[in-house]
Amino acid sequence: MKSDIVIVGGGIMGSAAAYFIAARSFSGSICVIEPDNTYAKASTPAGAGGIRRLMSRPENIRMSQFSIDFYADFQSVMATEDNPADIEFRRQGYLFLTDADGVASLTANYETQCNEGVPADLLDVDTLRALFPSVGTKNVALACHSPQDGWIDPHAALMGFRKKASSLGVTYVKDRVAGFETSGVSVKRAMLESGETISGDIFINTAGAWVDDIAAMTGAKLPVVPMCRVQHFWRCSQEIEPLPLIKDDSGAFFRPEGDGFAGGRPSWEVQPGFTWDIDRGYFANYFEDTVWELLANMVPKFQTIKLERSWAGHYAQNLFDGNMIIGTYSKGHDNLLTACGFSGHGIMHAPAVGRALSELVIDGEFQTLDLSRMGFARVLDDKPYSETGIK
Ligand SMILES: Cc1cc2nc3c(=O)[nH]c(=O)nc-3n(C[C@H](O)[C@H](O)[C@H](O)COP(=O)(O)OP(=O)(O)OC[C@H]3O[C@@H](n4cnc5c(N)ncnc54)[C@H](O)[C@@H]3O)c2cc1C
Repeated sequence: MKSDIVIVGGGIMGSAAAYFIAARSFSGSICVIEPDNTYAKASTPAGAGGIRRLMSRPENIRMSQFSIDFYADFQSVMATEDNPADIEFRRQGYLFLTDADGVASLTANYETQCNEGVPADLLDVDTLRALFPSVGTKNVALACHSPQDGWIDPHAALMGFRKKASSLGVTYVKDRVAGFETSGVSVKRAMLESGETISGDIFINTAGAWVDDIAAMTGAKLPVVPMCRVQHFWRCSQEIEPLPLIKDDSGAFFRPEGDGFAGGRPSWEVQPGFTWDIDRGYFANYFEDTVWELLANMVPKFQTIKLERSWAGHYAQNLFDGNMIIGTYSKGHDNLLTACGFSGHGIMHAPAVGRALSELVIDGEFQTLDLSRMGFARVLDDKPYSETGIK
């Protein structure tokens, strides 16, 4: 088989890239290789779907701005005959809470956000209490609220990209990349688990938490590992006003979900690797021992909640600086790109990243948003470009 563009991994990133390339009337062929059409182990359906502009790096804020506008119009732009593309975008806001130690950073980031035109407000404790009476203020010195941010259904967004891309002629191949054939500075073909091969002009590695396995196939190394992140769903019998997605310095976060709440707290202590059995080992009592108290600090009424279920997903964690890597990465291979290492930001940035990849592929360089600081060169040069404050 031959395809001009070969995308490895059809999660939200690979599918957004396929859509944006196809939507620009790219005349060549595009195929996406994805082994699991149920996405049972992919990060995308496991994500909380939070989309926010409360970030510290201008590139990340700008990617969120484009992406949030794109998600606002998603249904009208992405609907197809067989898919209404309803991503259940709820603009219920984002709220960051910080203690006294985090005030300087929250304030500095707020100033950056204002300079970028983000609609956000700093809230002192009295204003916070008046706006959200259920939020606990015992440890809070300052809050930042972005009322026009919110959350979407990530699986619906992934299917929206996938179905629209398919309707524009993109082929999804149900298979797994097992290796590459290279020649000089070029990748020539992908070898698939089934024994098939696909030759291509440009290859894009969007294999999420598996991205470094794909990198190893051309002798490259990406500092991106799977990190287990457990999420929980609970109900609270007490009355609580409509809340935004709330996150504090500990990394704990939650948002309303149906008639309950979903959230958790990333465990920075856990070893990298895939963990699917969360009933044993490190995560066995994680909610009771760690998460519950943090949630009850944020909303004291959460002292009496009923935990309904917990599930595992995985960040593709960039151990180098926590931010994404986009562009070429495999020494000597000019036609092999990646977009990876999104940690907890991939859903909110997928439209901007899909667009950026389409520019790299079609125009050879970024056109709309200069993401060159997010390239692999910073890893080689040992120049981390991290988010600051609440991540
Ligand atoms: C608990 C949790 C909460 C999160 N919350 C948020 C949030 O609120 N907001 C936000 O923006 N982000 C959030 N994220 C992060 C977000 O989910 C990810 O950044 C995003 O989904 C990454 O998309 P992806 O397409 O890169 O990866 P994935 O969705 O994992 O897709 C990668 C695909 O590659 C495929 N693949 C693997 N190996 C191969 C191979 N050899 N050949 C071909 N294909 C292969 C896999 O089958 C998979 O489908 C969260 C993540 C988790 C786990």
